[in-house]
Amino acid sequence: TFMNIQDIVQLGKIGSGNSGTVTKALHVPDSKVIAKKTIPVEKNNDKIINQLIRELTIMKNLKPHPNLVEFYGAFYDQSTNNEIIILLEYMNCGSLDKILSTYHSFVNRNLIPQDIVVKWFNTLSISRISASVLTGLSYLYDNYKIIHRDIKPSNILIGSKGQVKICDFGVSKTLINSIADTFVGTSTYMSPERIQGNVYSTKGDVWSLGLTLIELVTGEFPLGGHNDTPDGILDLLQRIVNEPSPSLSAQVANKYPPMMNDFIKRCCIKDEKLRPSMKDLLNHPFILNFNDKDKEFKIWAKRIRSYMKDEKQYKREQFERKKFQEY
Ligand code: ATP
Ligand code: MG
Repeated sequence: TFMNIQDIVQLGKIGSGNSGTVTKALHVPDSKVIAKKTIPVEKNNDKIINQLIRELTIMKNLKPHPNLVEFYGAFYDQSTNNEIIILLEYMNCGSLDKILSTYHSFVNRNLIPQDIVVKWFNTLSISRISASVLTGLSYLYDNYKIIHRDIKPSNILIGSKGQVKICDFGVSKTLINSIADTFVGTSTYMSPERIQGNVYSTKGDVWSLGLTLIELVTGEFPLGGHNDTPDGILDLLQRIVNEPSPSLSAQVANKYPPMMNDFIKRCCIKDEKLRPSMKDLLNHPFILNFNDKDKEFKIWAKRIRSYMKDEKQYKREQFERKKFQEY
């Protein structure tokens, strides 16, 4: 089911990150809405471009999996623009970071009570998200020896039918290395062993999942809170290595069952040797207890979708109002 670039019509922008821009797009032959990722590449940087293309070819050969965003094709057109285009399955609830920021914008406008975060990222959804991410990562590693290396809220996508899918795998290595040179962010989900340049295994992704889960239930990146912002990226990296594991405050932890707290704690064990593997974690009671809750999770995803839709509506209204005021 690979697509042709000539059959694609670009629609509105979804978001952008360090590497490029994502828009909605329409695949005309079957009227399917997809996601189109555009990554600008330096002219004449053949080494990186060739490497990227090689990695994208790997993606083409991956067999689809329910926890991986489907890949529809990648293109590089040197004659027009210096960009690589990747066509992907569109996920209609967006990424976890977007869902989280939508939640906060509702709270800030007093449209929903603050306490409802427990209902947005409740025990059920955290368990199902964890299970899905671990299953997708295990599939990538067991079958293709691919380590993701960039697990974070923006690379975990939700669909309203209860799908949880990982994206941005496969391209990770080269892209991350080339982006690392220009890194300007304030957060990193990199594990202590990776920062220290030690051998890197799938347990690094377990750490990143742990930080992601803390962020979901607290609403903020776990290292460096309000009045304790790290002094630049080097300070942040040094803190990850030298300070105790990030953890939930007692106040937040009390809102969730002990088995969930135990699960998160294990993901965030600093010593890679003591940190459980993906397989260990898939057998944790926190995962097993919700394995048969498909129906409940579908209802959760549908509700998230309705909020994400409302938010769009609200933004459109704001825009119209502003336009009106200008006259
Ligand atoms: P970074 O560049 O640091 O990895 P990022 O993951 O946010 O950050 P992109 O991968 O370019 O950057 O994605 C931009 C945004 O587009 C994401 O935050 C996500 O909300 C959205 N997005 C990406 N892929 C899809 C998709 N397949 N379906 C729906 N939304 C998507
Ligand atoms: Mg991404």
